[in-house]
Amino acid sequence: RLQAEKICLDTEPVTLDGVRLEIRLNVAAATGHELSGAAYADGCGLFRTEFLYLNGDHLPGEKEQFEAYRKVLEAFGTKPVVLRTMDIGGDKQLPALDLPRESNPFLGVRGLRLSLGRMDLFRTQVRAALRASAYGNLKIMMPMVGGLDEVRAARTVFDEEGSALDAAGIPWDHGLALGIMVEVPSIALIADIAVREVDFISVGTNDLTQYLCAADRMNSAVRQYYQEYHPAVFRLLAHLAEVCRRAGKDISVCGELGGDPLAIPALAGMGICRLSMGAASLAGAKRVVRAMRLSEARALAAEVLQLGTHGEIRARLQAFAQEKG
Ligand code: PEP
Ligand code: MG
Repeated sequence: RLQAEKICLDTEPVTLDGVRLEIRLNVAAATGHELSGAAYADGCGLFRTEFLYLNGDHLPGEKEQFEAYRKVLEAFGTKPVVLRTMDIGGDKQLPALDLPRESNPFLGVRGLRLSLGRMDLFRTQVRAALRASAYGNLKIMMPMVGGLDEVRAARTVFDEEGSALDAAGIPWDHGLALGIMVEVPSIALIADIAVREVDFISVGTNDLTQYLCAADRMNSAVRQYYQEYHPAVFRLLAHLAEVCRRAGKDISVCGELGGDPLAIPALAGMGICRLSMGAASLAGAKRVVRAMRLSEARALAAEVLQLGTHGEIRARLQAFAQEKG
């Protein structure tokens, strides 16, 4: 089985009717083991940087961050690496930061909100990331974006820190793409306007599902209401795909749904052909892509978008998977 898995890992994610999808790797710890997956992926679609802040008592300085980012970029060579700025708060609390307790942490100061409230931390991370951009194919995105004011405030920080690096004669990639995660419904519903101001979007379906369904992703008591195949999730994904197609901007999915073998045909059928996932999902995702035709996936997506419940969508996706063996 391991051997079969290895062979599948080594294949290209091409559909039976000849369409090449992009399968990227999510990186969360940047260990040698994790980075060894780089050989089998079309880059890193989500480089979670929180691990740097979880090291007990101290916050990572610019040098420590720069070195970690450079290491990941070098592991991927010329392939793209999408670094996500710190997504702290919500479920990710830090020992080194004494953050105020909140009664609804998932609706509180997390992700980009924390970055904009703690400019000292944000500027350090932005400088480290910009410096690292000279050593590979770096793209940067921000988590937990709810509106354009936040995007503009963040862009100002990138511009200022970039200018400071120029003044100091430190190289960085001036063509670097800046994107956002779409995981809050408010930004998803103005995506047609938002994409004018960003280079790409990556859909964080874990949070998007939690916020659409109003069901805390950590609370097992509402697990039945956290529905990854809720029709609202698929409809919003289809909308985002269409918006990006029209605007000529890249869209990817980097939440769990992107690596879910049942969901992949429907996502591809909607026009989301760039997916990012944990190393454990890579082989399965490639197998699914190689067993389907994009033409059939399009028909599947159209059907799924007419279904009214999580259970009905799951059953339809399962039937499709079964047909493909
Ligand atoms: C997501 O929300 O889908 C996502 C990829 O980010 P995280 O799981 O780290 O919140
Ligand atoms: Mg998220």
